[in-house]
Amino acid sequence: MKSPSPHPDSASTVRLMVDLAALAANWATMRDLSGSARCGAAVKADGYGTGADRAAPRLLREGCRDFFVADANEGARLRPLLPGARIHVLNGVFKGSFAQTLAHDLIPVINSPEQAAFWRANAGTRAYALQVDTGMNRLGLTPEQAAAHAQSDAPQPCLVMSHFACADDPEHPLNARQIKTFAGVAACFPDIEASLANSGGIHLGAAAHHQLTRPGIALYGGEAVSGVQNRMRPVVTAEARVLVLRHAHAGQSVSYGAAHVLTRDSRIAVCGVGYADGFHRSGSGAGVPLRASVAHGAYGAIQGVRVPVLGKITMDLTMFDVTDLPDGAVQAGDWVELMGPTINVEEAATAAGTISYELLTSLGRRYERTYTDL
Ligand SMILES: *Cc1c(COP(=O)(O)O)cnc(C)c1O
Repeated sequence: MKSPSPHPDSASTVRLMVDLAALAANWATMRDLSGSARCGAAVKADGYGTGADRAAPRLLREGCRDFFVADANEGARLRPLLPGARIHVLNGVFKGSFAQTLAHDLIPVINSPEQAAFWRANAGTRAYALQVDTGMNRLGLTPEQAAAHAQSDAPQPCLVMSHFACADDPEHPLNARQIKTFAGVAACFPDIEASLANSGGIHLGAAAHHQLTRPGIALYGGEAVSGVQNRMRPVVTAEARVLVLRHAHAGQSVSYGAAHVLTRDSRIAVCGVGYADGFHRSGSGAGVPLRASVAHGAYGAIQGVRVPVLGKITMDLTMFDVTDLPDGAVQAGDWVELMGPTINVEEAATAAGTISYELLTSLGRRYERTYTDL
């Protein structure tokens, strides 16, 4: 007998279950790994696709008080849901976002000398964070500019921060260089809190922790360190509805381009999910260039059994090979797991030639979303 589903039946052909208890447990794991540092949370890009309006308040309830969003619009939406918490805007501030930043009590992460001058001229002594670039050449003052800023008569930041380029690879020599450079930066701001570590950085140990950590992907069930078994609890389960079951003969082809030719008589489950839902075309079973370097396309799972994608994933539909399941085990209306407890988010991402971050943040708008917290 099937376990009772938290989903009501609906017109959707794709559904998403977000496990808020797993999110909270993953945050607690990151908090414990952060040693004496406070543990914050990156909730940008709608909480990595999970729904920041549900994820962020759940983390607040768990004890998180420091949140990081990408832009002021994301911050404004979360402000009423996060009373008393600090909301940092990673992409900084510019003329167009200034009013939002003030109105919603957001803390801009100042990322250049120009942004620093703009904030000082317009916001006076209001709180801001200062980002220092220690090796990415993305956002932030150079360490020299930061040292000059510390010496200047400008109002000082409430937080000084930097970001790792290679924290997913603990052996990468840039990690140690960034840790050392940032320690020098932090020393220029002696009474000011410092923050360096994302999810991967937290695993690099105490020298990377400072006073505040900023995990993102690990909270949502991704593994922050490449090449190891995923240790985080799965948070997102994505499923697609079986619309039609059909039989096809050996020698016939499946999907666009006739790129997959069946080698046996097959049973095919046609499901209502496609690349428009973020089930990337690059995960097709055949007919995409990625198959030259990654042998297997994406899998689905039915009652815990893996079923491979057949042929090209199309915009709204994907075919799965269910020949190996017992007769009658799968029927129209059943659901195929795309990622979740059986197909780990990292495995699903690898099959599509991408990373869990991109897979989660490209989940489409058609999913019916359900939240559980058990
Ligand atoms: C996204 C982001 C994080 C979180 O990174 P993860 O690798 O997802 O843990 C932390 N800090 C900054 C500046 C970021 O952009």
